Amino acid sequence: MGEIASGALLPMQVTLAADPSQPVRYALPFANAPGTMNELLGEQLEIRFLDRITCRACARTSRKSYGGGYCYDCFKTLARCDLCIVSPDRCHFAAGTCREPAWGESFCMRPHIVYLANSAGLKVGVTRATNVPGRWLDQGATQAVAILETQTREQAGWAERVLARYVGDRTDWRALVSRAPQIMDLTVEADRLKRQAADPIQDVFDRFPGGLEWISNLQVVQFCYPVERWASPTRLTLSAGSSIGGTLQGIRGQYLLFDTGVFNVARHCSYHAWLGYGAPAPRDTPGRDQLSLFD
Ligand SMILES: [Zn+2]
Repeated sequence: MGEIASGALLPMQVTLAADPSQPVRYALPFANAPGTMNELLGEQLEIRFLDRITCRACARTSRKSYGGGYCYDCFKTLARCDLCIVSPDRCHFAAGTCREPAWGESFCMRPHIVYLANSAGLKVGVTRATNVPGRWLDQGATQAVAILETQTREQAGWAERVLARYVGDRTDWRALVSRAPQIMDLTVEADRLKRQAADPIQDVFDRFPGGLEWISNLQVVQFCYPVERWASPTRLTLSAGSSIGGTLQGIRGQYLLFDTGVFNVARHCSYHAWLGYGAPAPRDTPGRDQLSLFD
């Protein structure tokens, strides 16, 4: 009754509206589900956990979700789940120990960018050159600008590590979901950072001759999210026998903003869930959380 879609949760796909002053569009977080999350703004919704997790790589049932939707075996063997993906300066491809060298070739040994984003304040990040603006939209950034081009992920990682000493590399999720963004002049910030970090970044340039290059013609982009009301920064999570929801007031990054708190869809990737109209009802007495990795 009242079902909108159900199945294994996926990160929400985000696309730009034709008119950039209009909010970005969010697909429903299920495979082949028609419609958008945007249409559900203002509705009373329930997301009910169906007490099943299947690995996003091998599709086997898993008791827990590891690394954002994988079973333990995949988490320990896939290159995309290795520590060097989140800390690219720790790339060990050159040492011959990449978990999947062919995957590393196609993912990490490709042009990357180092960017500045204003998500809930200024931060530095890295992504594949082909992954913008998708990466910025996933993070709920209001503004972003690519500042450096590199030939590999590792090079971008070393630059990020240096630049993060001056601007940080984390997003404050509480600020992201609970207040309107403050617009910044990212061109000014980029110039300032370039001056501040001049010496240590030169060391990175010297370490990888010809690998990195500053982008001279900075193109700042700006995004608008479908938010009617900001949320209180209370994290809603799915665990055995649980159900979350409330009135959907907004969407930013991978967060659904309810009047009851916020739900990070990407963090629940591979959880089987039912999305429908209605208030979340307590079902079983929630026991100790056996299924959520993310508390
Ligand atoms: Zn698996």
